[in-house]
Amino acid sequence: MALIRHARWSITGGQTGLTGVLRLLRIPLVVLAATLLGACEVNFTPSVEPLRLATLPPQPFGTPVAESSAVRPVEIEPSPVSPLDPAFDEADPWQWIAAIEQRWPTVDVVACSGGEMERGCTEWTAEELGLLYATLEEYIFGQYLTGRMMFIRTDDESYAGLHAGLWEGGTSKVSEIRVSDRAWTTPPAASLLDILDLPFRKNNQFQGTIAHELTHAAVWFQPELLDWWREAQVEAGISLGEGNWMVGLLYRWSYYDQYEGDPELYDDLVQGELFALTVGAVMYDPIWRTGH
Ligand SMILES: [Zn+2]
Repeated sequence: MALIRHARWSITGGQTGLTGVLRLLRIPLVVLAATLLGACEVNFTPSVEPLRLATLPPQPFGTPVAESSAVRPVEIEPSPVSPLDPAFDEADPWQWIAAIEQRWPTVDVVACSGGEMERGCTEWTAEELGLLYATLEEYIFGQYLTGRMMFIRTDDESYAGLHAGLWEGGTSKVSEIRVSDRAWTTPPAASLLDILDLPFRKNNQFQGTIAHELTHAAVWFQPELLDWWREAQVEAGISLGEGNWMVGLLYRWSYYDQYEGDPELYDDLVQGELFALTVGAVMYDPIWRTGH
C-alpha cells in the first residue's frame, strides 16, 4: 500500500517520469524475485516420498491373444511415455497424459474421456498438456508438491484457474486444480502494466496460471511455506498487500471479503494469493523475468 501512495505522490509531483518511478519501485520486487528463485536452487529433494496414485488401469486395444501354448506371445512395442523419446507424438493428448503421470506419479490428469470423467470437465488439447508438462518440470517449488494432485481442464470460464485443497480418507491431502480457457489470456502478475494488454492467447499466460495454482497446492501440502513467504518479503524490504501496482492489482480481492471476520485466516488467504501471483509472475511474466 505504501508503494502505491508513493507512486501517486511522485507522479502528481511531476518530478520523475512514470517509468522512472516504476523502475525504482520494482527494485524490492526484483530482490524478492531473486530470493524466490534462489530458494529453489538450494534444495530440490522432495522431503516426502511421493504417494503412488490409483489411476485407471491401462486398457490396451488390439493386444494379440495367444491361442495355444504353441503360439509365442508377440512382443508389443510400448507406447512412448517421454517427450524425449523420438517416437513420442506431440500431437497425441494420450501420450502427454501418460508422460505426465509416468514422470510425476502423484499427478492425475483427468482425461475427460475414455471413462475418466469429473464434474465440469472438458478434454485437454495436446498443446495444453505439453505446457502442463513443461510447467511441472520448471516449477520452482516442486519439492513442496508432496501430495496427490488432480488436474482438470474445465469449461467453467468464471476463473482462469481454481485450486481446491481436499482431504482423502480424512488423512491425506489432495489438490484439485482446475484450468479453464481463460488461463490462455490471463496475465500471471495481474499488474498495472497488464491493464492495457490485449487478451491474446499466450503460452506464458497458460503456464503462469498453472504455476499459480501449483503454488496454492504447495502451500496446502506444506503450510510453513507461507511463513517463508512472509520472511522473504521482510528480507526484500517489501510488504505486499492487496492492490500493489506490480502484482495483484487486477486480482478480484473482493472474493475474500467474506473472510474478513477472521483476520488470521483472511491474512493467510491474501498472502497465499500474493505468493501464488508472485510465483506465476517470477516464472512467466516477461517483465518480471527480464527486470525491465
Ligand atoms: Zn490464486
